[in-house]
Amino acid sequence: MKVHFIMGEGFDANVFLIEAEKPILIDTGTGWNTAKAVRTIEQHIDPKEIDSIILTHRHIDHVGGAAELSHVCQAQLYASIDEAPPLIHGDKATTGATMFSIPFDKLDVSILRYDDEVDLGDAKLKIIHTPGHTMGSISLYHEQTGSLFSGDTVFADGGVGRWDFETGSYRQLLASIEMLKDLGPRNLYPGHGPYVEKDATEHIKTSLKFLRYAEIL
Ligand SMILES: [Zn+2]
Repeated sequence: MKVHFIMGEGFDANVFLIEAEKPILIDTGTGWNTAKAVRTIEQHIDPKEIDSIILTHRHIDHVGGAAELSHVCQAQLYASIDEAPPLIHGDKATTGATMFSIPFDKLDVSILRYDDEVDLGDAKLKIIHTPGHTMGSISLYHEQTGSLFSGDTVFADGGVGRWDFETGSYRQLLASIEMLKDLGPRNLYPGHGPYVEKDATEHIKTSLKFLRYAEIL
C-alpha cells in the first residue's frame, strides 16, 4: 500500500490516493483543484483503476469534487450511514455549500458500515466511527503500517476538527480522539494541513491536551 498526498490549498481538503491492488481515493476537495488531483493520480495509475472513493464526512471542502472525480474515475462514492443522506439529497445547508457559495448537487453515494473494512485487495482499511466534527465522520486505519486517515477529526501539530458545526459535539470529538490515540498510529494523514509519518501518536496526544484545555476556556 502506497499513500499519495494531494495537498489542499487554502481551506480545500487534502485528497489521498491509496495505491494498492484495488486503489481508492479518500475525499475529493472542494472541486476547485480537481484537474490538479487528476494529473497527480495519472502520474501513478490510470484513474479508471479506481473503483471506490471514500468520503470521510459531508462537508463541501471534502465532497465538492466528488461528482467530477467519480465521473473521471468511473468510481462509486461511499460515505457512512449518517453522512450519506445529506449527500444523496444534495443538502446545501449541513454540507456547508451555501456558507461557502460552492455549487453542490445530489450525489450517488453508497453506504459504508461502521467497523467494516475497505478491501484494497492486498490491504484492508478499517472503518472507524469518529463522531464529533460531524455525527457520522469516519477515520480509516491500516493496521499493518499504523496509518490513520483522520478526515477532520484530528490534525497534525495539535489541531482538532471544529465541533461547533451542525451535528458536531465536543464530548464526542474528545471521545473519538481518545480512541484514535489508543490505536497508537504511526502515520497520520489528516483532511487538512501536513501529514506526519513516524510519530503520529505524539501529535494526537498534543491535540487531546489542547481539546481538554478548550473545555476550561
Ligand atoms: Zn469538515
